[in-house]
Amino acid sequence: MADAPITQDLVTLPRTLPQEGRANLVGLTRPQLHAALIAAGTPEKQAKMRTGQVWQWLYHWGLRDFAAMTNLSKAYRALLAEHFTIEVPEVVSRSVSADGTRKYLLRIAGGHEVEAVYIPEDGRGTLCISSQVGCTLTCSFCHTGTQRLVRNLTPGEIVGQVMVARDDLGEWPERGAPRVETRLVSNIVLMGMGEPLYNFENVRDAMQVVMDSEGLSLSRRRITLSTSGIVPEIARTAEEIGCLLAVSFHATTDDVRDTLVPINRKWNIAALLEALRAYPRLSNSERITFEYVMLKGVNDSDADARRLVQLIAGIPAKINLIPFNEWPGAPYERSDPERIEAFADIVHKAGYASPIRTPRGEDIMAACGQLKSASERARKGRRAAAE
Ligand code: SAH
Ligand code: SF4
Repeated sequence: MADAPITQDLVTLPRTLPQEGRANLVGLTRPQLHAALIAAGTPEKQAKMRTGQVWQWLYHWGLRDFAAMTNLSKAYRALLAEHFTIEVPEVVSRSVSADGTRKYLLRIAGGHEVEAVYIPEDGRGTLCISSQVGCTLTCSFCHTGTQRLVRNLTPGEIVGQVMVARDDLGEWPERGAPRVETRLVSNIVLMGMGEPLYNFENVRDAMQVVMDSEGLSLSRRRITLSTSGIVPEIARTAEEIGCLLAVSFHATTDDVRDTLVPINRKWNIAALLEALRAYPRLSNSERITFEYVMLKGVNDSDADARRLVQLIAGIPAKINLIPFNEWPGAPYERSDPERIEAFADIVHKAGYASPIRTPRGEDIMAACGQLKSASERARKGRRAAAE
């Protein structure tokens, strides 16, 4: 196979997008919010207290209107409104699957679209969020990887996905009610569109906001970042975010992984495993998740399963087997259920948890690897129709 391009036309945008000269507060870290309030005229002596107050309105109460921030003076509320906005991505559409999975199509600055998916489970749920519009990588089995246009999401657009889901689920606490932690969005996975480690700073800052205990307050153990294997950023993930890690492994030889996950040509299996072995805090309670998509006749043999457990020997790990989710024109097929079971059995007997991921939201194209913005799908469809 010819070398696939691994970088495309990536657009870098300012970290907060000023609208009518006003800066969006959503997605600023605490120190950034502090600095922004001072720059807008907050006396330095008050800045720490004001930062705490505004923070709670934004991330604990989910407020979008400065006028309703009742513990601030009217004059100060006016000052805030003059300098800042509180903006989250616009919900273009919401699809609800027969199994309760909700997919949000969101519009962000520049008219771009990204998707976020909420997967409910026993009164709690996991929100799968995107880190980029599209992806610069071109994994051959992934629909997102076929999208041409790519740009990094800002921290505000990443945090905004969590806020939009909480809006939709009605999860902000009632004002004045006792502080009961409803937790419909109990976990976050960075497994939507994009490669999070190619947008490291913005993802890190967004997760700092999400983890802050006076706001959205999700602990680092409830956040899982999935990477295709951007080796130099793996150690930084541990140091600067501290969340759990999932790795899109998908193959047990460099030949096969080069085709499935082309970034393997830059950082091969040996290099990736070395970085994973060094990932701190590894213990049986904080294992690395190895994601392994089951592709018929490509990576699903007994020999693959045996090689897999040999390769990861010594790494506290669980292996998440993902039946391939098909998309129109995909060059692969899903492995048969018996094959997946046999593979899981070998992995399980070697001492690893090997859950087979039940595809969720397939009827609304919300499953892993199916995300691709609707406008991009439509554009492709039109092009295909014209040919
Ligand atoms: N870019 C990151 C995170 C987004 S992809 C990464 O690659 O890890 C989230 C997961 O879905 C990855 O494990 C990815 O390999 C997997 N995936 C992609 N396309 C898929 C498909 N069509 N069927 C099943 N899983 C897929
Ligand atoms: Fe990008 Fe992940 Fe899809 Fe690969 S699997 S193209 S890294 S989103």
